[in-house]
Amino acid sequence: MQYQLFINNEFVDPELGEWFDSLDPYNGEPWAQIPRGTREDVDRAAQAAHAALNGPWSKLSPTARGMLLYKLAGLIEENLDLLTEVEARDNGKLRTEVRGQVGYVAKYFYYYAGMADKIHGSVVPMDKPKVFNYTRQEPIGVIGTITPWNSSLLLSAWKVAPALCAGNTIVAKPSEHTSVSLLELAKLFVKAGFPPGVFNVITGFGKDVGEPLVEHPLVPMIAFTGGDEGGRRVNMAAAKHFKKVTLELGGKSPNIVFEDADLTNAANGVITGIFSAGGQTCMAGSRLLLQESIHDEFVERLISITSKAKLGDPSRSDVQVGPVATRPQFEKVVDYIRIAKEEGATCAFGGNVPTGPEYGACQFVEPTIFTNVTNNMRIAQEEVFGPVLSVLKFKDEDDALRIANDIRFGLAAGVWTKSLHRTMYMSERLHAGTVWINNYRSTSFTTPFGGYKDSGLGREGGIEAVKEFLETKSVWISTDLEMPDPFIRKY
Ligand code: NAD
Repeated sequence: MQYQLFINNEFVDPELGEWFDSLDPYNGEPWAQIPRGTREDVDRAAQAAHAALNGPWSKLSPTARGMLLYKLAGLIEENLDLLTEVEARDNGKLRTEVRGQVGYVAKYFYYYAGMADKIHGSVVPMDKPKVFNYTRQEPIGVIGTITPWNSSLLLSAWKVAPALCAGNTIVAKPSEHTSVSLLELAKLFVKAGFPPGVFNVITGFGKDVGEPLVEHPLVPMIAFTGGDEGGRRVNMAAAKHFKKVTLELGGKSPNIVFEDADLTNAANGVITGIFSAGGQTCMAGSRLLLQESIHDEFVERLISITSKAKLGDPSRSDVQVGPVATRPQFEKVVDYIRIAKEEGATCAFGGNVPTGPEYGACQFVEPTIFTNVTNNMRIAQEEVFGPVLSVLKFKDEDDALRIANDIRFGLAAGVWTKSLHRTMYMSERLHAGTVWINNYRSTSFTTPFGGYKDSGLGREGGIEAVKEFLETKSVWISTDLEMPDPFIRKY
């Protein structure tokens, strides 16, 4: 299937006239041809999105804007099978997981549909006589969204839904590895009746499309999800032009299990936290902090559960772990396993690359558990973005906090305990944008998500996300018909 770029509600060829292959991570076969966008295509899309800011889109009432988003949400639900299929073909995740995720994408659009006519400024009490002051909440303009390969539709929806709810327009750049789902979503924008230019998709590589998008003068804001290296480049380039950015970056999140926890639930939560999606999630609980007294028993539990996991074709419903999504990522994960062993960590489970016909193109890594990890090791400090768990020991709350916070990331943290005191003590002191107590990896459109420290800037989800996409204007109206003395400023 050969795809086209989506600009101004039309599917068009890329200026360069070149396409590249999208590979199915399970069998390694090319299955779709993706247009190779360039600076010229970004410019066409930015012009269209900019024009739409003054076109029919801007004349819609907020309620009508919300109704369009509502219609789109319904169309996403109607097209669940198709969107699941293309997203899963591109990222190699379990069909069952992708289906749930795509269904949840619709919910983001429903939620922000309802919020479109609830955005308002306020009348501000004044310290001066004869003046009326109020604030207006205005869209920022054209938003460039840049997303990674692990959850293309969901991470795009986190940006696109609140940005459109606030009245902005979009130029979306998906990952070069997982472009198809956004191009299929574009068809639904047309069906829903969005005016031309409101949503545009330019596919291609970071250098060819991402950089020109960040630099484009008609794009005043970039909403980025990806690795911290890419995020730093985007942030620095955007700063040159004083552009606003939100950055959702990497993590190395601690999952902390106390001796008083329900250990059955905790073990299931720890496994979900690291091995769901093959560990290829920003919020993976990749550092397990275990209280010394339960260390050995808990590791045994983890090994017992993990050893039953079935690896294989991600389209099969009995499979629990799919392939790594891309070849470079696979090589990175394998390399980190080597590094961990060299650093002196003990490979307590897994660590191998399974081979055989059931593993397709053999881009699989066994779910892997390292014990005897210390916090100064690279395997404790760096994001692997794969099915690799590092286990560290701690003595008490303060020791756990010291280890958990001694890292440059701060995306999320989990705590497993039955104590209310520990719940409060830990959640106040953990340096992370999300803290889960006795659960892990929960997200919702109603609540903000984002990182402290090197894990990012800004928040996605909830009303906080809409605020990221708004400018506040202060309007002063004089109620005094006489102008004051022109040369004397009164305070
Ligand atoms: P990446 O940073 O390599 O790429 C992300 C996107 O940025 C891609 O679309 C890429 O083409 C583009 N890009 C690359 N260089 C660019 C540049 N110079 N200018 C503009 N755009 C550029 O990330 P990835 O490998 O696709 O994804 C994995 C990373 O994403 C992991 O580090 C993970 O933690 C992170 N992630 C974070 C979250 C979150 O919400 N915090 C969610 C998912 C993934």
